[in-house]
Amino acid sequence: MKLKKRIETDILVIGSGIAGVCAAVSAAREGRSVLLTSSANTFSGSTFYPGTWGFGLVGPDGEEDTEELLETIRTVGSGMINEKVARAFAEGLNSSVDELEALGVELMKPSGDASGEKEYIPCFDHKHRRWRGLTKKNLLRSLPSILEESGVKELPFFQMTEIVMNDGRASGAVGVLNRKDTLYIAAKAVVLASGGLGGLYRRRLTTDDVDATGTAAAMRAGAEAVNLEFMQIMLGFVRPAFKTIYNEKTFFASRFTDREGNPFIGRYLPFGLKEQEVLDARSLHGPFSSETVSRYLDIAFSKEMAKGNTDGMVLRYDLERLNSGSEFVKEYFRWLKDEKGVSAEEEIILAPFMHASNGGIEIDENAKTSVPGLFACGECTGGMHGADRIGGLSTANGIVFGMKAGRSAAGYAEDKELVEEAELEAFNIADSKEKLEALRETMYRDAFIARSSESIEKVRDFIGRMELAKGRGTSDSDYLDSNRLLSSVEMARACIEAMDLRKESRGSHYREDHPYKDESLGKMIRVRLKKVRLKKGEPIAAFTGGTK
Ligand SMILES: Cc1cc2nc3c(=O)[nH]c(=O)nc-3n(C[C@H](O)[C@H](O)[C@H](O)COP(=O)(O)OP(=O)(O)OC[C@H]3O[C@@H](n4cnc5c(N)ncnc54)[C@H](O)[C@@H]3O)c2cc1C
Repeated sequence: MKLKKRIETDILVIGSGIAGVCAAVSAAREGRSVLLTSSANTFSGSTFYPGTWGFGLVGPDGEEDTEELLETIRTVGSGMINEKVARAFAEGLNSSVDELEALGVELMKPSGDASGEKEYIPCFDHKHRRWRGLTKKNLLRSLPSILEESGVKELPFFQMTEIVMNDGRASGAVGVLNRKDTLYIAAKAVVLASGGLGGLYRRRLTTDDVDATGTAAAMRAGAEAVNLEFMQIMLGFVRPAFKTIYNEKTFFASRFTDREGNPFIGRYLPFGLKEQEVLDARSLHGPFSSETVSRYLDIAFSKEMAKGNTDGMVLRYDLERLNSGSEFVKEYFRWLKDEKGVSAEEEIILAPFMHASNGGIEIDENAKTSVPGLFACGECTGGMHGADRIGGLSTANGIVFGMKAGRSAAGYAEDKELVEEAELEAFNIADSKEKLEALRETMYRDAFIARSSESIEKVRDFIGRMELAKGRGTSDSDYLDSNRLLSSVEMARACIEAMDLRKESRGSHYREDHPYKDESLGKMIRVRLKKVRLKKGEPIAAFTGGTK
C-alpha cells in the first residue's frame, strides 16, 4: 500500500527519553524543523521510569581525568569498546552535561559533607569523579519549556514500525498513531533514540514502551548492531512495589532466603568463599557481572528460580547493620518509604530483571549509523560501553550522543529533499500478544543470567517453532502488535546469535559451559539481520570457541 506523506519535517526523532530530547533540541537549535515522536507520551522510556529516584551522571573530574575515565571504560568494558566512540564520549561528557544545565535543567550535586562518601563512586568505577544527579522531577519541570522555546514539535503515541528507505537513504518513517491510524512522516534525516531491549524479557526494569521495535526497524533498514550479548541484569522487587529497583548499596545488610526461610546463597559458593564476601563484592555494582566472585549471588538466584521458585526469593534486611549505613543509603530508604510505601522492616520478594542494554546499533563518533540519513543515540546504540559499563554513563551517553546526533542530522539534512510517498505492507500474525509473552518467558528462562549452547539452542528451537505466518492486516492495532512480535523475534535471534558466538564469560555475559574469559575471543561481535559475523570480511569460522 502506498502512503502519501501527511506530516513533513527536516528531522524526525524517534523516542523522547533523554537521548531523543537532547537530539531534538540540538537539531532545532541548528535551525531545522524537528518532530519528536514516541510510542508513549512525550518524556517516556527508561529515562522516566517510575521505579527510581532519578539517575546519577558521572564525568571526568577535570581535564586530566578524561584519559583515566577512558581507560576505566576500556577496562570495565573488558576491551569491547569502539575506541573512537568511547573517546568522543569521554571528551564530550562534561561539556554536554553543562550544556543541558545551561538550557535550564537543574542538576543535583553532592553536598560538601557527602561528596567523599564511597556511594558516590558509581558501579564498577574505582574513584570519585564529577557527579551530578538528574531527577525526573527536575527534568519534567524544565523540559516542556525547553522544547517549546526551541520550536520542537511533539507527536506522542506514534509507534514507528519501519524506517522508510529511498535511494539508499533514510527518508522518514511509517508507523501507527494512537493505535488506529497509519501514517507516513517524511523527513530529510532520522534520529533513532528508541531505548534498549528490555522488552525482550518477561521481567524488565524498564517501561513497556521500551521494546525492540526501533532497533529491529534500524536493522531491517541495514544497520549493524554490536555488543548485543552484553546487557545489564539486576535485582528488582516482585512484591511489594513491583518493579522497584533494589539498591546494591544495601547488599551489606541483606539476608536472602528461599520461601521456607532457608538461606540459599551458600549452596552455590565454592569451598572457602563466605557469603558476606560475595555480598560485599556484589555491593560494588548493581548489574550482574561474571568478572568477580559477586557472580555467585546472581547465579544462586538463577539456579534457585530454575528449581521452581519462579516467583522470586526472599529479602529481609539486618536492621542493625542497615542503621550503620551511609547517608546515601538512608536517603534511599526515605525515598522507598515516601514514594513506594515500603519500609526496611518488611519482607521483600526479589528477582533478577533485565535492566538496560550495553550494546545496540553501532554508531560512529558523530552518532552516524551505517545507513545514510539514519543517526542514533542513547541506549539503542552500542560501542561506547563494553562488556560491563560504569554506572551513570548510560544517561550520559544519551546526553552526549543525543546532542551529537541532533547536530549531525541537522548538517546532513541541509541539501536533502523530502520524498512524497512511502510503501507500507501492513500484516497480521495471529495471537501476536500471547506469542510475544511466550517469547519473553523463553528469553527469561534460557537467555538470561546463565547461558549455554544448550539453553541458546532451546531459544532457537522455540523461535523456529513459532507460527509467524503473515496474514493480511485486519486493523492498525493488529498490525502494531504483529510488528512488535516480529521485531522482538528478530532482535531475540540477533541477541542469541551474539550470545552463542561468544563462547566465553566476559562482563555481563556469563556462559555456564565456558565460565572463564578467553583472551583469544576478545573481539567485538557485530550482527546484521540474517548474516552474523565478527568484523567486516571476517568469516564466522574464524571465531572458534574455547575456554582456558
Ligand atoms: C530503574 C532504572 C535506573 C537507572 N539508573 C541509571 C543511572 O543511575 N545512571 C545511568 O546512567 N543510567 C541509568 N539507567 C539507564 C538509563 O536510564 C537509560 O539508559 C536511559 O535513560 C535511556 O535513555 P534513552 O533516551 O536512550 O531511551 P529511553 O529513555 O528508554 O526512551 C526510549 C524512547 O523511545 C520510544 N520508542 C521506543 N520504540 C519506539 C518506536 N518504535 N516508535 C516510537 N517511539 C519509540 C519510547 O516511547 C521512549 O520515548 C537506569 C534505568 C532504569 C530503568
